[in-house]
Amino acid sequence: MIKYNLKCHNEHEFESWFSNSEEFEKLNKKKLLECIYCSSKKISKSIMAPMVAHSNKNGKKIEITYKDFNNEKNQLLKLRKFIEKNFDYVGKDFTRKVREVYYDKKSKKAIYGTASKKEREELAEEGIDLISIPWINKDN
Ligand SMILES: [Zn+2]
Repeated sequence: MIKYNLKCHNEHEFESWFSNSEEFEKLNKKKLLECIYCSSKKISKSIMAPMVAHSNKNGKKIEITYKDFNNEKNQLLKLRKFIEKNFDYVGKDFTRKVREVYYDKKSKKAIYGTASKKEREELAEEGIDLISIPWINKDN
């Protein structure tokens, strides 16, 4: 069994258990998952989403959009390692690349990079969900 933190398109977060990650994908594709608060069927995993953005342009304000992943440095480092290993870094090209990935249904590329608040809002209006994570330095 595996527990996922799920999020609907109205930003409600809840947890659910699955026998494995394939089960989640299968149920979600068939629209068998729904938000426990608003019955939305637009559900995504709130951790390990295919797209990740971090906004620390000025190095100060960093937004965290999921709660259960608490601020422990080790966990954040693990998450960072996971992303670096599995995601392509596209840097400031992020907004453009995200659209490429999003509108090309066949593409399963996972990318990460930086986006401004305004860019993220524009993407959100187009239905593209991003996850922000605190990007901490290994030696910090
Ligand atoms: Zn909801």
